[in-house]
Amino acid sequence: MFGLMQDRPLMISSIITHAARQHAKAEVVSKNLDGSISRSTYAEVEHRARRLAKALVLLGIRAEDRVATVALNSCRHVELYYAISGTGAICHTINPRLSPDDFAYVVNHATDRIISVDPVFVPLIAAVAPLIAAHVRAIVVMGARAEMPNLTLPHGMDLLCYEDLIDSADADYIWPEFDERTAASLCYTSGTTGRPKGVLYSHRSTLLHALAVNVGDVIGIRAVDRILPVVPMFHVNAWGIPYSAPMAGAALIMPGRHLDGASIANLFNAEKVTISCGVPTVWLGLLQHLRASGERIDTIRRLTVGGSAVPRSMTEAFGTEYNVELGQGWGMTEMSPVGTYCQPNAANADLTGEDLLRLREKQGRALWGVEMRIVGDDGAALPWDGVAFGLLQVRGPWVCSAYFGEAPNSALDADGWFSTGDIATIDADGFMEITDRAKDVIKSGGEWISSVQLENIAAGHPDVAEAAIIAARHPKWDERPLLIVTPKPGHEIDVATVMDVFEGKIASWWKPDDVVVLSDLPHTATGKVHKMVLRDKYKDHLVK
Ligand code: AMP
Repeated sequence: MFGLMQDRPLMISSIITHAARQHAKAEVVSKNLDGSISRSTYAEVEHRARRLAKALVLLGIRAEDRVATVALNSCRHVELYYAISGTGAICHTINPRLSPDDFAYVVNHATDRIISVDPVFVPLIAAVAPLIAAHVRAIVVMGARAEMPNLTLPHGMDLLCYEDLIDSADADYIWPEFDERTAASLCYTSGTTGRPKGVLYSHRSTLLHALAVNVGDVIGIRAVDRILPVVPMFHVNAWGIPYSAPMAGAALIMPGRHLDGASIANLFNAEKVTISCGVPTVWLGLLQHLRASGERIDTIRRLTVGGSAVPRSMTEAFGTEYNVELGQGWGMTEMSPVGTYCQPNAANADLTGEDLLRLREKQGRALWGVEMRIVGDDGAALPWDGVAFGLLQVRGPWVCSAYFGEAPNSALDADGWFSTGDIATIDADGFMEITDRAKDVIKSGGEWISSVQLENIAAGHPDVAEAAIIAARHPKWDERPLLIVTPKPGHEIDVATVMDVFEGKIASWWKPDDVVVLSDLPHTATGKVHKMVLRDKYKDHLVK
């Protein structure tokens, strides 16, 4: 017997219509390229998204067509999210930091029909236009007529103006209802070890994920919040914030192009931001700015961090110096992206000081909706004792089942588990801790050494800004850890003192064999340290 509750489909358009009705005046603020601020509201965003949706339909966009965006975090990008998915088409967000070759690859693989581009990324389009002419019928420049560039496109590819498109369509469009499992958006993985792969989110997965990150122990957005996603809308939908903020009725503050510490602190204070989300490198930049300038960020109640491991020193600094909670989450493109979040539960509620900091080093507990387990080389599940480590696998309604264009369920094993490629432990209270990416694991004399733990310790050195551990080839032990560090601005690194920070914190054989000091570390298109580049360059450092 089925329940007798209404079977209303979970539609992305329902988020923005809800926000327009219940939180009509809640702001969507954008910092423009020239530094000026534009203000809109959810009522205006919904109205303009409906006109844009109609314009897209008039351009011939149909259900399942891919419409791409190459854009920063802005109000117009939010309008595009809702307009494209709302019509039943698929919003393909493209990372502008992809190489031109990968950029053309993802556009052609997705067979994008239209690409909407921020004026700042027009040169990128100009460079790849001949490579993407097979499917792309129009480039929409996200601005007013006065901002239109002088751009010659291949035959059959039109140059259109975003504001003209909105002006050309009236607002009589009615958001259609369809199956909630319909594809809504598409994001390619960053592809550091091969071609990017497309992850295709549905309306249902997007809404369930947005609801799940809004609970109190995760990002916990409320209607009175003002949230600034530093995480980009061009990668994994900015952790779902453009959906969860209007769902809750919180103001969205879109930072645009300038993501350095000073610009972020400025915007936090000017716009009274209460929550923000970013990768560790962003918060490192903010911390350095705050310390150097003496500026405060007193409106912030929670900074959320994920994407790579969070050094304990950073969590401690924000807590003790700025009274700001740095909450760590873990996830991946294939998980929409959030899978776990680290907040104490009843078993840990009384922790303080060092013990609480130790807990916050962990990636945390699974959100409702996400099941996780760790398995050994034989595929058997390992105990949740905080010691046994193995490959982390996940299942759930916002976890990918197959990559775009591949056979149904081809990303899963026979029991429906998706292998994350991360190596982790899970403790008795359910807190997961990543020890490594499987491909970054260091095997010294057949024993594993956790690169994440070593990086975390090295990042606690007072002169170190960023730290990366790679596996370097070794004649006796096969592989040994090599530490690569960058100095904080104005600091110099004394290698001997860096080695000292490991003393007493790890088994002595875990200690890195050498330290290389660089002025900068290479980063991937999504802001993670690009270990493959480091490995290519330094893998023979210890045998030379
Ligand atoms: P992406 O698909 O680009 O979001 O990358 C996902 C990968 O980033 C994960 O599989 C992890 O290896 C890594 N990652 C994400 N969050 C964290 C975290 N909090 N700590 C350590 N690694 C993380």
